[in-house]
Amino acid sequence: MTTRDPRWTDEDRDWMLALAVYRSWLCPKCGGLLEECTSHADTGPTFQVSKIRCRRTDALITEQEANTLPNPEALLWAWAAQARM
Ligand SMILES: [Zn+2]
Repeated sequence: MTTRDPRWTDEDRDWMLALAVYRSWLCPKCGGLLEECTSHADTGPTFQVSKIRCRRTDALITEQEANTLPNPEALLWAWAAQARM
């Protein structure tokens, strides 16, 4: 008979259980607290939307749109940040 130490300690399991419980409180759409974002429109909080642009994704989309290679779905794209001189 072979015995092994468990891969997870009781504390590990407690942390993972706590994480699962916490994640169950979050909205799968916006990542906010489910209780807030599904609250009644008349009594719950209001939400203000703002946006910023991810320039990395912007550059990727620009490059993808300029792409004329065949089967573009097969391309693996990568990016690297370059410091300004
Ligand atoms: Zn939400």
